[in-house]
Amino acid sequence: MQCTLRPVTNSIDMIERLIAFDTTSRNSNLELMDFVGAYLEDLGVASELVHNDAGTKANLYATLGPTDRPGIALSGHTDVVPVDGQDWDTDPFVVDARDERLYGRGTSDMKSFIGICLALAPEFLARDIATPLHLAFSYDEEVGCLGVRGLIDALAGRPIKPSAVIIGEPTMMNVIRAHKGKLSTRCCVRGHEAHSSLSHIGVNAVEAAAEAVAYLKGMARRHRDEGPFDTELTPSYTTVHTGTIHGGTALNIVPRDCAFEFEFRHLPEDDPHALLEELRRHVSENIEPEMHATEPGTGFTFEPMSHIPGLSTDEDAEVVQLAMALTGRNTTGKVSFGTEAGLFQNGGMPAVVCGPGSIDQAHKPNEFIERDQITQCEAFLRKLFERCWSG
Ligand SMILES: [Zn+2]
Repeated sequence: MQCTLRPVTNSIDMIERLIAFDTTSRNSNLELMDFVGAYLEDLGVASELVHNDAGTKANLYATLGPTDRPGIALSGHTDVVPVDGQDWDTDPFVVDARDERLYGRGTSDMKSFIGICLALAPEFLARDIATPLHLAFSYDEEVGCLGVRGLIDALAGRPIKPSAVIIGEPTMMNVIRAHKGKLSTRCCVRGHEAHSSLSHIGVNAVEAAAEAVAYLKGMARRHRDEGPFDTELTPSYTTVHTGTIHGGTALNIVPRDCAFEFEFRHLPEDDPHALLEELRRHVSENIEPEMHATEPGTGFTFEPMSHIPGLSTDEDAEVVQLAMALTGRNTTGKVSFGTEAGLFQNGGMPAVVCGPGSIDQAHKPNEFIERDQITQCEAFLRKLFERCWSG
């Protein structure tokens, strides 16, 4: 790749190289990881790849400094969301620097954080290091935080793993100690086909699905009206949402099949599996009996799609205090979007979310990051370096 030909000079240079790899989640990220691996190797840092089953994508893990003790992990995902159908003014995979901003897919979410960490690595390595920094870069975050799970599994079994994880998702460098979780499910409804003039002998899958979707809407209203509430989150309650529904083939056929996808975006303390169980109970007690009475073999099946656990870290936790000291801010926040932080936390690695850029720009056409955010993130990392150097 031509990216490796010339040495990287600064954060913006590194961000430009990373943006140039089209790592939309459906694509391989291996070219980008090879570039990162070669860059680290030039600095004398070994890195390891933790691949997916197909060997087409990988997480990268590397330790800067001594490998015989825990350290602090800087974590980010290398994949980006698609630009399909979006109206971009410039090539999304070529950084366009104008108006004190960098435009490009992944500038805010979240290649800038990764780029800054990498660009500043030589500076960190130039001194004696007492506390190592780990780089943990993942794949397939945007499609359900799928990739990082393999890395967390690998780390969880090791005697030495990070004692704290900073996830550089775009928070405008605010310290985020809690976020919602998300449980996504696909539901397939099997009915029984019949000519629509004989609807009494058919089982209408679309109508059965609609009853379940209506029940979900009722659950959504209940959470909106009755809570539980956490006023630091927006909205302050668990949300329930059906996103897709497909069913039926023609108006004069009682539809045999219908499928819909729904999600619970839950407060960290809410149990989404209990919510799913509530729906299943409603289906089996109130919808399926009538279906079965007409035709056995009809009914509902639920397929898990993904679960991203919520994050909930105490304000006085060490990782939160560290991030607050590095940002110089004395407040913390909570956000509604999911990140890999809850997975790290469940893997025994306390985590906090703090990174440059704004989530408002993420996933949109003409995504950008303010240059000032890059400067703030550099200052944050340099303060971290000071704490990690010996003496
Ligand atoms: Zn992200």
